[in-house]
Amino acid sequence: MQSKIDLSDTIRILLVEDDDAYAMLIGRMLKRAKIGKFSVERVDSQQSAFERLPKGDIDLVLLDLHLPDTNGLATLDSFINKEYDVPIVILTSLNDEITGIKALQKGAQDYIIKSDINEELLIRSIRYSIERYNLISELKRNTKALEASEERFRIITEQNADAIVVVDDERIVRFVNPTAEKVFNRSADEFIGKQFDFSSEYGVETDIEVSSDGENSTILECRANRIKWQDRDAILMTLRDVTERKQVEKMKDEVISIVSHEIRGPLTSIINSLSLIIDGETGDIPEPTKKMIEIAYRNSERLLRLTNDMLDIRKIESGKMEFNYQVLEVMPLIEQAIEANRSYADQFKVRIRLENTIPDAKIKTDSDRFIQILTNLLTNAAKFSPPEDEIIVSVSRNKGFLRISVKDHGPGIPEEFQNRIFSKFAQFTAQGARRKGGSGLGLSISKMLVENLGGSIGFETKPNEGTTFYFDLPEYQE
Ligand code: ADP
Repeated sequence: MQSKIDLSDTIRILLVEDDDAYAMLIGRMLKRAKIGKFSVERVDSQQSAFERLPKGDIDLVLLDLHLPDTNGLATLDSFINKEYDVPIVILTSLNDEITGIKALQKGAQDYIIKSDINEELLIRSIRYSIERYNLISELKRNTKALEASEERFRIITEQNADAIVVVDDERIVRFVNPTAEKVFNRSADEFIGKQFDFSSEYGVETDIEVSSDGENSTILECRANRIKWQDRDAILMTLRDVTERKQVEKMKDEVISIVSHEIRGPLTSIINSLSLIIDGETGDIPEPTKKMIEIAYRNSERLLRLTNDMLDIRKIESGKMEFNYQVLEVMPLIEQAIEANRSYADQFKVRIRLENTIPDAKIKTDSDRFIQILTNLLTNAAKFSPPEDEIIVSVSRNKGFLRISVKDHGPGIPEEFQNRIFSKFAQFTAQGARRKGGSGLGLSISKMLVENLGGSIGFETKPNEGTTFYFDLPEYQE
């Protein structure tokens, strides 16, 4: 079937007619058409029409209802049942207009009374039927698509665990899903079409900045987005009951804090005792025992670092870490961090060299956190430097920021790991990497700290040549 009539196209008619003379008459009329071209293929029974139609390339069927193998409206029924997706125009005899009308009701596009036929009437009926059929088909397709999309919307909203409410720009409720009915303890009828003040009734702020998350005095978390609802501006609110999540978060916080504090005390005491034994304060110990105790000491230290790191992460993430800001000269802070890490670097036979200074440079920062960040970069650089090598620390000014860089000549960071390096517990696990010890939390903590201090952190690396980690903090201006 044609999708739209183009006057230069030939309209292909299947004429289902057993009367030879009448078939010739119709053929002749269509041949003489002044506008457009028609081709007519004729079959003389229902059976042969059913054989021809599935092959396609037919734009319209002109159907005589009285055929050798079928008769009356049943003929049309069987054509329609076949669902050939082609418009049908009925040819009826004189005095049989009732049948014609019934045929229209059953789905034929038009009917022509055989004795009244003339060229003009026939062509107009054909064209009109094709156009009408196309329009109806398009409407059916659109309706189906709309129904499918409404069905999808219904399923999604009905089964959504979040409360969904649509209010228009006059704050009139246009839609609520079943979860919203439950959460607000009202039926949809009590909401829809009514102006509703979610703010005063439930503490839900509907004027919250659209596209952002908001919280409110009920235990609900609200997200609002501007949408079009039946051609009107509206706000789609998604409200989530976060009571349970908050309770879980709170419990998690408590567990982590209790466990960490309970671990830290005894662990520190173990470390101190082991260190006394190793230093010979408790008397001589045989060399093999000393070696075992040194292993225990190193692992206890590692456990303490991990515990501290986890506490730090929790504190920063929950916004509970306190920053004690002071305006300080940056060089003494850098020197302090270097001194604090020299003995750690010694373990790896690595030196730390400060390449340059900017004596007057100041930053407004928390000194402990600054040293913690730099310590992490220095210990990583020491761990990954080749023995007898040096780590170079430098400081530079750039567009209002001070950049502190730590350069090593280690193995570099593999490309596939680079975008994960600041994620929690990220460690490159290739041969050798894990043996360096560490929690995989250091860089993620450093990143969070630097960002809290108003700066940013980054690195440059080349495989087999080395890595430079740096962080930028705003330089303090009087
Ligand atoms: P960790 O406590 O394991 O050192 P970090 O978050 O500080 O945790 O570092 C994560 C991982 O990043 C390290 O395990 C290592 O694989 C890689 N890495 C960090 N610094 C360097 C560096 N200077 N050279 C090579 N790899 C590094």
